[in-house]
Parts: sequence; C-alpha cells; structure tokens
Amino acid sequence: MLVHDPASGQIIAKLPETDPGELDAVLSEARAAQRPWAAEPIAERLRIMARFRELVDQRRDSLAETLTSETGKPITQARNELAGTLPRLDFFIQNTEAALADETVTASPDQGTEERISHEPVGVVANISAWNYPWFVGTNVFVPALLTGNAVLYKPSEFATLTGLAIAELLQEAGVPPAVFRTLVGAGDLGARLVEAGPDGLFFTGSHATGVRIAQAYARHLGVLQLELGGKDPAYVAADADVANAAASLADGAFYNNGQSCCSVERIYVHEAVHEQFVDAFVAAVDAMKMGDPREEDTYLGPLTRPAQADVLRRQVTQATAAGARVLRGGLQLPGPGTWFEPTVLVDVDHGMEVMREESFGPVIGIQAVTGDEEAATLMADTEYGLTAGVFSPSRQRAESLLGGLEVGSAYWNCCDRVSPTLPWSGRRHSGVGSTLSVSGIRAFTQPKAWHLRQP
Ligand code: NAD
Repeated sequence: MLVHDPASGQIIAKLPETDPGELDAVLSEARAAQRPWAAEPIAERLRIMARFRELVDQRRDSLAETLTSETGKPITQARNELAGTLPRLDFFIQNTEAALADETVTASPDQGTEERISHEPVGVVANISAWNYPWFVGTNVFVPALLTGNAVLYKPSEFATLTGLAIAELLQEAGVPPAVFRTLVGAGDLGARLVEAGPDGLFFTGSHATGVRIAQAYARHLGVLQLELGGKDPAYVAADADVANAAASLADGAFYNNGQSCCSVERIYVHEAVHEQFVDAFVAAVDAMKMGDPREEDTYLGPLTRPAQADVLRRQVTQATAAGARVLRGGLQLPGPGTWFEPTVLVDVDHGMEVMREESFGPVIGIQAVTGDEEAATLMADTEYGLTAGVFSPSRQRAESLLGGLEVGSAYWNCCDRVSPTLPWSGRRHSGVGSTLSVSGIRAFTQPKAWHLRQP
C-alpha cells in the first residue's frame, strides 16, 4: 500500500498489505489468544493499559507528526488529538473494573436464592476505523475492548495506516500479546473480507453508505454490531444569543480539522433579527483562519485528506449557487499538488439544496435565516442523520426544549463539536447504532450473563 502526504501528494511510505487469504488464520489465532487474555486478572490488563498511556504521552509529539504526515491535519490539531486521547485512556482505566463487576440483583439468603449478572467479553472484535480522528475513534473502541478481555483485529483507514501501525507497536511494547491486538493493513476490500470472516463483534466508524453495506454483509453472522456514522449536524442561533460568541464557536465547529469531523457543524440556522450581525462576525472569524502547510504552527486549515471529497464539495457548491445561494467566502478547489478547498460560506440556502441535507465532510457551511424557534426546530429535524445538534441562547429552558425534541445522540447548549469520555457517544438513525465512551461504551464490549442460583 502506498501512503501519500495529502499536502504534497508525495508518496511517504510503501507498506506490505495484509493478505486477505490469511484472515481466517488470523481470526483463529486471535480466538485462541483471547481466552488467556480474558482470564488474566483485570489488574494486569489495567497495568498494561496504564503503560500504553505512558508511552503515548512520552511519544505524543512524534505520533502527532506521523498523523499530520498521512492525514494533512494541522500539527497543532494533531497534537490536540494526542493530548485529548490521554483523558479518554484515564476514563477507561479508572472505570472498567467497576463496569465489569458482577451485580447481585436479588438475594434471599434465607431461601438460598440469588439472581446475579456477570459481564463477559464478546470475544474477537473487529474494529474497522476512519481516518479523521484515528486516535479518538480508535481508542474509543480498542481500549475498552482490550480492557474488558476481548482480542481486537484493527483495520485502520487506508488514510491513517501509519498511525494504526504505531498503535499496535505501542500496545505490544506495553505488554499486549501480538495475537490479542493486530493491525491489518489494507483498504475497503480488506475490510469487506474481515466482515465476511465473521468476528464475534464488529465495531465500525465511517460513512453511512459503508455502514449499511457492512451491516448487510455481517447480518448472516449475527454478531454484536456497532456503527458510528456520519452526520449533518445543525446549530441554531436564537434572537437572544451572544452573537459574537456563537459566531466564533460555530466557525471553529464548522472548520476545525477542515470540517472533516463527524460532529462538525454542517448547517447553521440564525434568527432573522441577528442574521446579518451573525454572518458578519462568522465571516470575520473565517478570514482569520490561515490555510497552508499543515506542519506550520499557525496553520488552521490544511489539505483535504481524501482527494475524492473535493468532488462532493464542488458538486454541493455548484448545485447550491445554481439554485440561488450566494458564496460569501471561498467556493473553489485550489490548484495542487495535494487537494485544497477554500473555506466556503454560503448564505441564502434552503433545504432544496444538497449542501443543507447531505454530509459535506469538508470546509463548506450553509447559513440560513429563520423566523423563530419553530422554523428552526422544523429545519433541524429535517434530516435522516441524528448525531448532534446545538442551540445558542442564554435560555437553558429554550435550548433544552428544542434539543429534547430532536432525534440526536448529543445535545449542545452554547457549544458544539465536542465529545466527552464520561458521556455516551452515539448516533440515531443514519448516524449509527450503539454507543462508545461512558460506562455504556465499556459495557458495549461485553455480553451479560444472567445467573439464576438456587441452593438445594
Ligand atoms: P469510509 O466509510 O469511507 O471508510 C471507513 C472504513 O471502512 C475504512 O477503514 C475503509 O477502509 C473501510 N471500508 C470501506 N469499504 C468497506 C467495506 N465494503 N467493507 C468493510 N470495510 C470497508 O469512511 P471514512 O472516509 O474513513 O470516514 C469518514 C466518515 O466517517 C464520515 O462520514 C464521518 O462522519 C464518519 N465518522 C463518524 C464518526 C462517529 O463517531 N460517528 C467518527 C469519525 C468519522
């Protein structure tokens, strides 16, 4: 496999690919290694993960450079991702033992009866992952999976394979046996073969289209399936909002990581009373964002990681402008090498346009004026996705009432584009099935066993 630097288009590595013909053997080895791994006392797995955390912390600068080299993520944002991985590791290290503990639900010592729940590992878990936050979305899966006693076959995105290999190296150095965590090198076809091989659990992060394909292919195995998919995340700026703060926060939420985040702000509705003021402040924030070499400290916008996404962005902008949208900033793909797309702000948009309905997953945002809360609520709900939504207003009651009525996994009041290890991360409908992070994201890698106990 060839690894490209998205900023220059240059080849930076040639990697041997995993032979799909070996997958059955790899799965059998993982199955054999999983039982002794699960039989280790939890303290031993926690010790190994704490060592992994130490290694990530010690090497985070060079790991960030690797991430920047293969994804084009600006170096400061790559360092932020590595730094943000540490509290996630801490959360799992601190909470897994309690989440795994047996629960006695009823007990009648007089009658010698007890009902108890234990939590057992799923077995061998395949983790097919995305490239946009490989440390975040990876650790959300493989860390609790390993801590709860599973073996993991990790198929990183073909756009983040160097990071995937670095993760395997660090886990092994920390003490995870090689057959318990293995990185598989390849693209979508290898992922498809891994699904066919029939691991006991399948945890996928990626696009809705791939998620559906995977769910269909995996159905015949009837294993444990989780899908973390895309979004078309809306935000509403109410008439009473602090407009300057909302504009700064939403510009960052829309363009951080070049808009290539599952929870990027993808569409903004602004009360007509503050629309003009908001747009001026938003555009000023965008003008202050420097696009350029992702290795430079002051770069905020780098290249697109996946060259093919430029076609989606061009199509969305062309279709929106043909239907009457105005381009206030950007709108164009820039010349290479590498794939560069200007940060693009569209106004006079509506829901007849693809840019307000389909995931952009790039530096393009539509801002639509609305007459009030009711219209905002209707438009925010007008999507098949259900990842996050946000409301900017001093009124918590207004925000909670609007957000409570939406089919989304995460609700933001005066904030956006954020994930917390202590809260479940989940999508509804086209945004996915199941959740990672929080205690439910630990239990996701276990299966409950019900114990009905009767003393004779
Ligand atoms: P993608 O769907 O193109 O690829 C994801 C992974 O699936 C890659 O490893 C790829 O090699 C593999 N794959 C592709 N075809 C496959 C097949 N037929 N069978 C098995 N595996 C296959 O997505 P991407 O471009 O890597 O990531 C971007 C998408 O991920 C966006 O839609 C984004 O919103 C979403 N995402 C969601 C979350 C979340 O937590 N909800 C987080 C990050 C990214």
